[in-house]
Amino acid sequence: TLTVTGSINIDHVIHLPQFPRPGETLTGSDYRIVPGGKGANQAVAAARAGADTRLVACVGDDAMAKDLLAGFAADGINTGAIDTVPGVNTGVALIQVNDAGENTIALAAGANAALTPARLENHASALFCDRLLLQLEIPLETNLAAAKTAKAQGAQVVLNPAPAQPLPAELLALVDLITPNETEAERLTGVAVQDEAGAAAAAQALHRQGIDTVIITLGARGVWLSEQGRGRRIPGFAVKAVDTTAAGDTFNGALLAALQQGLALEPAVRFAQAAAAISVTRPGAQTSVPYRDEIEALLEQ
Ligand code: ADP
Repeated sequence: TLTVTGSINIDHVIHLPQFPRPGETLTGSDYRIVPGGKGANQAVAAARAGADTRLVACVGDDAMAKDLLAGFAADGINTGAIDTVPGVNTGVALIQVNDAGENTIALAAGANAALTPARLENHASALFCDRLLLQLEIPLETNLAAAKTAKAQGAQVVLNPAPAQPLPAELLALVDLITPNETEAERLTGVAVQDEAGAAAAAQALHRQGIDTVIITLGARGVWLSEQGRGRRIPGFAVKAVDTTAAGDTFNGALLAALQQGLALEPAVRFAQAAAAISVTRPGAQTSVPYRDEIEALLEQ
């Protein structure tokens, strides 16, 4: 099985001509409430791509949480290790999108901050898995504890180091496969990733931290795949992008689903890129994540 440990958010998205300045009120349009959060997005992507998926996470005791849990169950995700935490809100992201397609995001971590190492211990059995997939929207010490436990039990530990932040060597040393985008790779290594030479240099720096496999996602240009020091670019799929929200999350979830099915790294990357390409043609986070038959149809084209 695949275990995803991470965040659950409710994204409140509003479109505005431009961002309001301090003290200013602007009227926008197209307000939507969309299920999001990197942990949840990646679990949904893995489950829709066909993986037996468990999500270890926390929600608040608010009305929205019930709808979210029902949605995860409908996608076939095992929700037994999702705690409802009294007295806090489910994670919230307030997202403003301007006419240039740029966004600003304000987060209220809420229940995601309650996913502590102590709480994780109640779900230790969930860390008996083939693969553990982590991101950085829950406390760092929880990720560290999850990685240690899963690794000690022989699981492959995969880290999507998003949102971008520097990380302790102790965590990186536990990671078997890392999937930063360009910004995140630069934040972790200090190496600017503007071209293939930069991607290769950043990948080498991550290998030196003890990570066997590095996949740097390069947006529309695909990925840089580096295994034990040998790297190459794998182009993505050409599509008309309308909203790249959750492209990386879809890539990660689908990648893990493909690895769970026993695919080798390169075909797994192609499968994940097909899934991510479909997601950028649709608006929103979980609303944009494709199902297995759609991914296979694009791969067969
Ligand atoms: P993030 O969303 O984390 O910043 P990227 O932008 O690198 O990550 O996108 C992740 C993957 O999604 C890419 O490697 C690529 O396969 C796919 N992707 C992203 N943007 C596009 C696009 N415009 N067209 C096709 N595929 C895309």
